[in-house]
Amino acid sequence: MALSQLLWLEVMDLSSRYDLMAAKKHEEDVMNEISKNPMGSAVSPVQVAPHVFYAGNKWVGVFFIDTGDGLILLDTGVASQYPIIMDGIRSFGFDPKDIKKVLLSHAHYDHCGSMSKILEYTKAKSYVSKLDAVFLDDTKALLTHGNEYSPFNPDYYYEELEDISQGRISIKPVVIGAHTPGTTCFFFTDVDEETGKEYKVAVHGGLGYVFLHTAKDPIAAIDCYRKAQMAVYDCPVDIALSFHTYNLQILEKVAESGWKNLINQDAWKAMLDDRLEKISDIEKEFI
Ligand SMILES: [Zn+2]
Repeated sequence: MALSQLLWLEVMDLSSRYDLMAAKKHEEDVMNEISKNPMGSAVSPVQVAPHVFYAGNKWVGVFFIDTGDGLILLDTGVASQYPIIMDGIRSFGFDPKDIKKVLLSHAHYDHCGSMSKILEYTKAKSYVSKLDAVFLDDTKALLTHGNEYSPFNPDYYYEELEDISQGRISIKPVVIGAHTPGTTCFFFTDVDEETGKEYKVAVHGGLGYVFLHTAKDPIAAIDCYRKAQMAVYDCPVDIALSFHTYNLQILEKVAESGWKNLINQDAWKAMLDDRLEKISDIEKEFI
């Protein structure tokens, strides 16, 4: 099935009755499709903030940040997206060898699949939540579905750090959990040198309901999900980002009129409201 059809199904899944088996199968189909045909679904890399760029496809990708003193990479995509990420970095005139730090949002294959290749090539330091580190060699928990994967040993845990700084960028990781135990959101300020304007950028670590597939107590898991989103709900955000770009129509907005079209102080809350509303609908299926 082509990725465009799978994306349509994604919308279906979220708006109609939540069917655990169908959702599980759908997640597997998407992962396999991207792994099999990464080039077929790739999009042109785009700028999303003054010093932030996206590479990947419409379903999932990575953000790379030009810190002025090397690059920070947020997430790594599936293993077969490795060349797309490297080429995406080069397409904006950067050298992938300059990646100094790689921050992982959570331990799922579509986010950590290329990590070992990237670390091997760049010798960058890797960061992950301690709560997700235990899953990094568990292909079942990672949802690799048999696709290529090499585990890696993280260098640092968010729980043992304050901000993560490199050059002009200082990132605050906030472990919220829910989607996976250690799902982490990233917050930082980026300055547009042309205008001198500062933008508060937030990257959400993971909003999907995949945790319900294995939850022993779905109602408690849904409650945990609500609390996790509320922990970051009131954070002031000028530019909201998500590794699954469809959550915020990132690619469509940038295609219209560039990264400044993403400046919207309401987008973060609207995205969370939408997900909280949908999970309340799903909750009714379990009561
Ligand atoms: Zn995930």
